[in-house]
Amino acid sequence: MTGPANFSRESYRTIELYAPDRAPCRIDLSDNTNCWGVAPAVEEAIREASVSTVTRYPNLYAASLKEALGHYLGVSHDRIVTGCGSDDILDSAIRAFAEPGDVIVSPDPSFAMIPIFARMNGLRSVTVPLTSAYDIDADAMLATDARIIYLCSPNNPTGAPLSRAAVERVIERARGVVILDEAYAEFASIDLSPLALDSGRVLVARTMSKAFGLAGLRIGYATGAPALVAEVEKSRGPYKVSALAERAALAALGDGLDWAREHVAEAKVNRERLTLELEGRGLAPVRSEANFVLVPITNANARARHMRSLGVAVRPFEGLPPISDALRKSAGSALRISVGPWDMIEAALAALDATMRER
Ligand code: PMP
Repeated sequence: MTGPANFSRESYRTIELYAPDRAPCRIDLSDNTNCWGVAPAVEEAIREASVSTVTRYPNLYAASLKEALGHYLGVSHDRIVTGCGSDDILDSAIRAFAEPGDVIVSPDPSFAMIPIFARMNGLRSVTVPLTSAYDIDADAMLATDARIIYLCSPNNPTGAPLSRAAVERVIERARGVVILDEAYAEFASIDLSPLALDSGRVLVARTMSKAFGLAGLRIGYATGAPALVAEVEKSRGPYKVSALAERAALAALGDGLDWAREHVAEAKVNRERLTLELEGRGLAPVRSEANFVLVPITNANARARHMRSLGVAVRPFEGLPPISDALRKSAGSALRISVGPWDMIEAALAALDATMRER
């Protein structure tokens, strides 16, 4: 033997693990989960689950969850596919609708996992900068002639919704599938998913990790034409939603639904208050329709480390494209702050202030 053998696929050698700083922190506003917790009905459903929920295999294709989601969304269950988080849905959809070597185009900045899923499936990832209004550049995305076009509205990490006109243009002219990621749909005033229901090429991906507080249980889903969702179902495979997750999700969409709606409403109020507080400090936060606010500010990594030492985790970004005045001034550096109960936001603002005093 001359050294450790390398058995990995050529295209995998440079893929790095997704590694944001996830060390536990007293107040965690870094990952846009539900800082209020979960509905009491969900807690009860988990506590009262029978042992067979764990010892038996779950439903093959989460039929009960599809029924409940269909009811929640007002669509029939044959237009829904579920998965182990919307990560699983996105990964499976990329595999289902493109061949290795094909191009997937996504906006920059957008959900950081897309280029990674692209490479995991042998695709070439191309990005197109957002416009100065944090909208997609529809024509530039279309000009890539990509097999899959990924859009995210409200977009992560900007929080800004995409304009209906730009999304419509992409859907009208795309040659392949359009994946519309609406992980934060519940917090937005614009619901673009009806556009998808009228089109045979659009898959709308959503999650129960945010508004419903079930990130740890990993429940994602997508809606689209029956023929589209059936392909995702094939490429994702059976048994991907665990029995305990399905049970909790049914409770969240049943007796827990009012709880989720009330806390979404509170998140929206706190998001506007947070935006005003940041503006009051002379900053230019992006107008958000999600449960987080992106604020361009210099030296994001160092500030996030400082804030963490004070017990508050937020998500730093550096190297964002200089698409707006604010991002040009901050040299592409920004902090993304999740919206939670107001006392958590106050703690985050106090920690941010400490970083601003030091410089
Ligand atoms: N899409 C977007 C835009 C996200 O921000 C996230 C999570 N941060 C996901 C998808 C994945 O969510 P999950 O796998 O928890 O459903």
